[in-house]
Amino acid sequence: MIAEQMLIQQEVKEVKAVSQTDCLFCKIVNGEIPSEVVYQDDQLLAIKDIDPVAPIHLLLMPKIHLDSLNDIGPEHLELIGRLQLLAAQLAASLGIAEQGFRLVNNCGSWGGQAIFHLHYHLLGGKEMGWPPE
Ligand code: ZN
Repeated sequence: MIAEQMLIQQEVKEVKAVSQTDCLFCKIVNGEIPSEVVYQDDQLLAIKDIDPVAPIHLLLMPKIHLDSLNDIGPEHLELIGRLQLLAAQLAASLGIAEQGFRLVNNCGSWGGQAIFHLHYHLLGGKEMGWPPE
């Protein structure tokens, strides 16, 4: 009985993980909403932020829907690793690697997350302070 329930929950989670119809970033991934694509492959998408807060401001996201970093598990290790590698590669190709850049994940409402589809902000082209506020 418990095993059956776990199986059902797992199936629901998998369906949910592919795409959400009411998610802005899923619509961007699916091409329903246009975006300035900087990079994409079968798993990842990088686009320009429409409201940049730095000279270079990209959004990097997995194509599958995950609400936030709170939803990742060991099965996402490669995906998240590839996402961080992509950030470093994009920083290098954009010429901001040497001066430095910032890779930010806002998780949940107190973390400042506005769109609940896991994404990272790649910010560069200006010197940034610490702490963030
Ligand atoms: Zn989504």
